[in-house]
Amino acid sequence: MISTKMLMKAERFFIKARTLIREAILSAELTGAEFVPYVQPVYKAEKIVGGEVLLRVFKDGVLHSPEKYLSAMESCEVINDVTCSLVSEVTSFFEGYTGTLPNDFYISFNICARQLNSSRVIEAVTDFHKKFEGQISLVLEIVERGTAALNDFSLETMQHLTDTGVQFAIDDFGSGSSCIKYVEHVGFSKIKLDKCLTIACEGSLVYPSIIDAIISLSHKLGIQVIAEGVETWEQLNLLNAKGIKVYQGYISSRPMSLNEFCQKILTNYLQ
Ligand code: C2E
Ligand code: CA
Ligand code: CA
Repeated sequence: MISTKMLMKAERFFIKARTLIREAILSAELTGAEFVPYVQPVYKAEKIVGGEVLLRVFKDGVLHSPEKYLSAMESCEVINDVTCSLVSEVTSFFEGYTGTLPNDFYISFNICARQLNSSRVIEAVTDFHKKFEGQISLVLEIVERGTAALNDFSLETMQHLTDTGVQFAIDDFGSGSSCIKYVEHVGFSKIKLDKCLTIACEGSLVYPSIIDAIISLSHKLGIQVIAEGVETWEQLNLLNAKGIKVYQGYISSRPMSLNEFCQKILTNYLQ
């Protein structure tokens, strides 16, 4: 007769085996690959107010979007290597630009909730925050679907980082399931409206009532709303009319290298 204890042991064994297989496949796929930080500018009216760091995987001479690797990366330690490497590259790059950046400028990194349990990720972001304090604000973006994975330990870490001045954004808001309760109390200071909600068609936003509800929630909680995936003037004007002034999207800039990004800020700043 198989006992519950034996079944649980077998289950743990299979989970561990599956993780090891995934890690082996991923490390084979990533052999010779480099993690490169790309940045997409975030605008308020015509001015750049920040930039979102987006991973590119450079392999066989080509830059790839991370999407095909992300779920495997996020299920193992590799994602922490990725984040630490991006934070370190962005830090070295901006060291050469301090004093030349606009006021109230911010840089955001994408992390998954589980990474709040990684001491080296916390150390890397804390170092970034300390190094650029007063010059570049640090924002950490956590995807909405990941909020369900926030546990007591990660919530405590978030609280600690928030107390030191690090900000949090809830990413892809409106795109999937979430622990919406965390928008209140937990210290999110930005909501990033997913691109599926910012679409417009024949002169109107497709989801005006949902956007109104999110704006009203954001006013109540003192949270900033950022529109994502803005591709057309029609979209931008309709979102502006609703009072959403901060946005990112192909209409103004695609993600670009750090060099191109800094050139763009400096030109934009001098206009
Ligand atoms: P995201 O955080 O929602 O980032 C926005 C994605 O939308 C980016 O895709 C960007 O290139 C794309 N995008 C920006 N503007 C527009 C637009 O106007 N129209 C359309 N159709 N798309 C637009 P990308 O760079 O392929 O990144 C995909 C996702 O990968 C990101 O979605 C983010 O969730 C994740 N990701 C990127 N870098 C990292 C990272 O360092 N760590 C983690 N954990 N996830 C990352
Ligand atoms: Ca993001
Ligand atoms: Ca997003």
